[in-house]
Amino acid sequence: MGVSLTDVKGIGPATVEKLEKAGIKSVEQLATLRKEELSKILGVNLKQAGDIIQSAKQLALDQLLEVYTAEDIKRYRQENIKRIPTGCSALDSVLKGGIPTMSITVLFGEYASGKTQLCKQLVVNCLKQLGRKAAWIETEPGTFIPERLEEMASAIGYQLDLNDIIVVPARLIGTPYNLFLAYEMIEHKMQKLGLDVGLLVVDSFSAPFRKHYTGREQLPDRSAEISRHMGKLDILASKYNMAIVLTGQVGDIPDAGSQLHAVVKTGHRKNPVGGNVFLHSGTYLISLIKTKTDEWEACVFDAPDIPMTKVQFRITREGIRDVSRTRAR
Ligand code: ATP
Ligand code: MG
Repeated sequence: MGVSLTDVKGIGPATVEKLEKAGIKSVEQLATLRKEELSKILGVNLKQAGDIIQSAKQLALDQLLEVYTAEDIKRYRQENIKRIPTGCSALDSVLKGGIPTMSITVLFGEYASGKTQLCKQLVVNCLKQLGRKAAWIETEPGTFIPERLEEMASAIGYQLDLNDIIVVPARLIGTPYNLFLAYEMIEHKMQKLGLDVGLLVVDSFSAPFRKHYTGREQLPDRSAEISRHMGKLDILASKYNMAIVLTGQVGDIPDAGSQLHAVVKTGHRKNPVGGNVFLHSGTYLISLIKTKTDEWEACVFDAPDIPMTKVQFRITREGIRDVSRTRAR
């Protein structure tokens, strides 16, 4: 099925070997590389690298020339897209059942806004409700805490096997390049061990970019690198029918006018870090904020099939829950 690297113009067996050594195993992967990277990998000039990427893109696109009817697409979506419940039924009903597979969902919020807790609840629910495994890339040390997953699982009477969760720890992720490699490590492990992974969490996705690209003059490079990551994650989401959940930090906005603009766009007075590339690449964008000592708010602010909607939720010892249900107790 599909095309192989040797089908790309200008690529012979020796070049394939070099590409595979660098972790590039498919035409789709090759098509999402930047020419600067490819020129380093192959030791060719930028023009040659650009030509190779262009023919890989063309080949990948030619494969997509099959035309479907809207009915085909609807049936395909109904048969394949699964939803991972969030633990909060009000949020699930907004999300038509939960966080969908085959998509990238981005959770934005400042510290303590519930990003990591929600991701942990999704891991537990993916294992229990979908019967599939989960993968977690930790980019900030000490934030992936297995005992918290056990606590959430036991609250719903689920016997969690921690071996069902693949983890890439933060000590391996210093830069965005390491992060990209982590996707490939997970894919490699899935293929080698035949693992069916239904959810990949990157917590925090924005942190390595924020640390690595510090100056304003680096913004174009940062955007290009984020695009490359999103390209790879999109492929993983559809190839393995996986839900991809990324967390993103937000920055303070000093003036009231821009704050208002942010509220209109994202539901909250903070600006997502990572700029427009990040915002455009996620399919479902959700901003989170802590509104009271024991209450949080999620705003689904950009989705292809859901209007902007705000929902309240709680974070309890048991996990993510509805406000009304936890109040009634
Ligand atoms: P950061 O940007 O710093 O990573 P975050 O958005 O990921 O922040 P979380 O780690 O999800 O924030 O934490 C949100 C809140 O969840 C914490 O401030 C805490 O109040 C609550 N919380 C954490 N663990 C528990 C628990 N076991 N029981 C109840 N509440 C908890
Ligand atoms: Mg966190």
